[in-house]
Amino acid sequence: MWLPCISYWIRICDYLSMNNKVVTNSSVIEAAFLKAKSQFKGLRKAPVSLIQKNISNSTMRAQPTLFVEEGFNIKRGYKIEISFVSKIDNKTPTSDLPFDVLVGWFAHELGHVLDYHSRSSAEMVVFGIKYLISDTFKQKVERKADILAIQNGFSEQILEAKKYILNHSDLNPLYKRRLEKYYYSIEDIEDIIVEKRARE
Ligand SMILES: [Zn+2]
Repeated sequence: MWLPCISYWIRICDYLSMNNKVVTNSSVIEAAFLKAKSQFKGLRKAPVSLIQKNISNSTMRAQPTLFVEEGFNIKRGYKIEISFVSKIDNKTPTSDLPFDVLVGWFAHELGHVLDYHSRSSAEMVVFGIKYLISDTFKQKVERKADILAIQNGFSEQILEAKKYILNHSDLNPLYKRRLEKYYYSIEDIEDIIVEKRARE
């Protein structure tokens, strides 16, 4: 009886401390995250934590999470996780990635967070299932994250990140196939930026 209770409270405490927390030893990663987040007007009041940890199959990922406010109100927040090593080549420390590439990459993840933020919790459950089972939906979601990042002023950084990843000489072939299947290409992003500038 006690063990589940203890585990429950540890989880609650963990969620409590998740609100806008930054967990990384790298000042470069922290600065890139804060620069990207400060420019997303739609996320000013959204609790978004950054956590650096070992992740097996991605370099960065954004997920909804829960935390408990004062008065024990359960609120939805978000976390962006970044691995210690880039999955582009499985050797470069993420803290050694060029600053604009990091900012562009965080802007893409914050594009996901903005997308989640506009949905109810019930919609998020359906969203999660569709992302897992539908390639078409996954492609739509990944492309929307880039579009939202560009709309929030990260055209150059999204392009920098895309070029850095896709032109990397040691790009892991499996990772490359995944990128080509779901994400915009360099040329797609260049066209989107030209169209955006023509409208401004
Ligand atoms: Zn993504």
